[in-house]
Amino acid sequence: MSPSSAVSATQFSDLEPSEDLNSFRIAQKQFDQAARFIPLLRNGLKEYLKCPVRVITIHFPVEMDDGSVRTFVGYRALHSRVRGPGKGGIRYHPDVTEDEVRALASWMTWKCAVADVPFGGAKGGIICDPKSLSDNELRRITRRFIAELGDAIGPHTDIPAPDVNTGPNTMAWIYDTYQMMHPGNNNLPVVTGKPVGIGGSLGRREATAQGALYVTQRAITRGAVPGLGSLEGATLAIQGFGNAGAIAAELFASAGARVIAVSDSRGGIVRQEGLDPAEVQAHKDRTRSVTGFPGAEAVTNEALLELPCDILIPAALENQIRGDNAPRIQARLVVEAANGPTTPEADRILLERGIQVLPDILANSGGVTVSYFEWVQNNENEQWTLKEVEEKLRGKMEKATDGVIDTRERLSRESPGEPIDLRTAAFALAIERVARVALDRGIWP
Ligand code: NAD
Repeated sequence: MSPSSAVSATQFSDLEPSEDLNSFRIAQKQFDQAARFIPLLRNGLKEYLKCPVRVITIHFPVEMDDGSVRTFVGYRALHSRVRGPGKGGIRYHPDVTEDEVRALASWMTWKCAVADVPFGGAKGGIICDPKSLSDNELRRITRRFIAELGDAIGPHTDIPAPDVNTGPNTMAWIYDTYQMMHPGNNNLPVVTGKPVGIGGSLGRREATAQGALYVTQRAITRGAVPGLGSLEGATLAIQGFGNAGAIAAELFASAGARVIAVSDSRGGIVRQEGLDPAEVQAHKDRTRSVTGFPGAEAVTNEALLELPCDILIPAALENQIRGDNAPRIQARLVVEAANGPTTPEADRILLERGIQVLPDILANSGGVTVSYFEWVQNNENEQWTLKEVEEKLRGKMEKATDGVIDTRERLSRESPGEPIDLRTAAFALAIERVARVALDRGIWP
């Protein structure tokens, strides 16, 4: 079936009436889907690798600007340290749940393995609405949470980074709090995504989007996207206009793509002739949203996903492409800048329709890869040039993309007649790498 022909939901009579949207169960399903192809996973290793090693829940008090005291809830999940210290962002959002953090931590393990950086997986989150909090309140929330985590994080045990609604400022507070508690050591590598002036890496701000661009270019060059031979003139719709989405708009446009639609939590805008990402960013800086951008039409977040385009980049939250709207997706290629934007049911439908998905654990692995570069620079008290960072990132992303595409080709040869998507291939590659190290190290004691 042609990827650009939308089909009606009724053609998929076996759609589940209500899909399970629990992120952790989705992550486990994705694991199971790939684990079938890995003979190495024996004797209970599978059960061990499927679940996080630990999840810490913290209830902590914060004095608000008006003098009242509010209790916040935060989580830090460590999924695996088999290949290295835990690594993963901290998210501030009202919808954070323990299961979401557990899912995100496990995706970090597989992502680090796909990108081949020597980290395991971790993730954190605090249930809060940053839009209704002042900078001082956010700083006190961050400091108290990090103080409560104590030695659960550390430069060689578990290393946080930015995620939704956290950025360089938050990372600076995390570093400063940890440093206050552990004076006399080089604590810069305890957290990545810091401002450049305090050990941040050049290129980290752009890394997630830059990595997504390198992965996309490599996949196109490898012929993995039928009907799309180049980014030049390719039309692009992006959901989410934050760190990942806004910079992806800028970088993909510089590489020749035409950005026809973007959105944020307040809604979206569409302009077939193309949007200038820098102008949209300036408008967002002024008004706090992309909505109302002069010369563009309004579009809802749901409708944006279904626009006819060559490339769709979900760069916001989980569960955006599901069984109910996947039949109407009209892109040739989905590049998952966000974590978990596509459900297993949607994966099945997109595969059937010939729409390629560059999965999150590959497509957005540029973020953690430059976080790794930052960590190396911090350990060596060095600062690499932007050119060095970009060259190393390109090398890592191309190798990771080749690894995933080659794995799909190998699995397809080994299991003829069974259609295998790039997510399953990426998971298989990652699980095999982690399992091999677990077996080489031996199960302690
Ligand atoms: P961010 O906070 O900088 O931006 C998020 C954007 O999504 C904002 O523009 C927000 O308005 C928008 N948004 C929120 N809810 C929305 C909705 N329902 N519909 C449309 N837009 C909505 O966050 P970010 O760091 O860009 O993260 C976005 C995604 O990318 C997340 O899934 C995150 O886990 C993933 N990611 C980020 C990084 C990183 O380095 N920042 C790395 C890897 C993956």
